[in-house]
Amino acid sequence: MNASTLRALSFPFATPPGPGEAIEVAPGIFWLRMPLPFALDHINLWLLADGNGWTQIDCGYGDVATRTLWATHFAETFAGRHSLRIIATHYHPDHLGNAAWLTKRFDCPLIMPQAEFLTAHAVAGEHSGYHLAAFIELFRAHGLSSEHAAALEARGNQYRRGVPELPRVYQRLMPGADISIGDTHWRIFNGYGHSPEHAALYCQSLRVCISGDMLLPKISTNISVGPVEPDADPLARFLASLSSFAQLPPETLILPSHGLPFVGAAMRVEELRAHHSARLTELEAAAGSSVTAAEMVPVLFRRKLDVQQRFFAMGEAIAHLNHLWRVGRMTRTAKSDGTFRFAGARPLQ
Ligand SMILES: [Zn+2]
Repeated sequence: MNASTLRALSFPFATPPGPGEAIEVAPGIFWLRMPLPFALDHINLWLLADGNGWTQIDCGYGDVATRTLWATHFAETFAGRHSLRIIATHYHPDHLGNAAWLTKRFDCPLIMPQAEFLTAHAVAGEHSGYHLAAFIELFRAHGLSSEHAAALEARGNQYRRGVPELPRVYQRLMPGADISIGDTHWRIFNGYGHSPEHAALYCQSLRVCISGDMLLPKISTNISVGPVEPDADPLARFLASLSSFAQLPPETLILPSHGLPFVGAAMRVEELRAHHSARLTELEAAAGSSVTAAEMVPVLFRRKLDVQQRFFAMGEAIAHLNHLWRVGRMTRTAKSDGTFRFAGARPLQ
């Protein structure tokens, strides 16, 4: 079985666990699902049997709804055992929100990549270019209207809403690290483009990969440009990172942070590459002589966007245009009014 013979992804578990429930998806690996208070309405978390305790992968959003469900899991799913450590794949609030709360409760360490730990603190503390104002300034330079900018500003620091507190100490998770969890061994591989140094975990003996947000079965991972690296090409980094997933054994069960567990990593990687390639071609065709990223948001996202979705959509539009610019398919010009405009660099057939 390989990507060319596999015609569709397979989903071995048709129904996700209900609130407070857990499903064993592989020996000693339990699937928990927690709610999210926005359009993406859930996150999957993973509880791994680890000797006389548990290793938890990701923490859920730091709100009452998730903590109430955690309390149910502590009383039932945990079967009287404690968490020995928390591993966070990356700094986003649905993954890190309860890290401080969980590590205090179990007096256990938080383990995550260094760039993710530092970024969490920078965003939560609004340091330097991680302040919301820096995002708004970047998006304004890419054509965001004053009305949409005001709506973003009114939301304030959304990160703090989902991450009310952060641990001040952690253990650094290194790329390529081997971690023993119970009697299984897991290799860490990093991914780029969605967050600074996203960690995925792979267990060869179980043929299981915890993919975090890097490989999702239905939706495409958000790839955004942010104000601290305004000229970056995170899409190129993301597409390059997907190779690690494409190379996993074809029978590998992928445990994503959103959606259902699935088999068919290589096929999903092909789909995502095709998806981004089509989007880039559409943008190139729609751009004409000169456009801003804001003008391209409706090309990339045809649905109506709420304020949070527009935030991600702006980052994503800049990421796609920056990619076209960096590979020479478009030009980017800074205008005297401070805005950036992109234009096609080659005649379209
Ligand atoms: Zn994420």
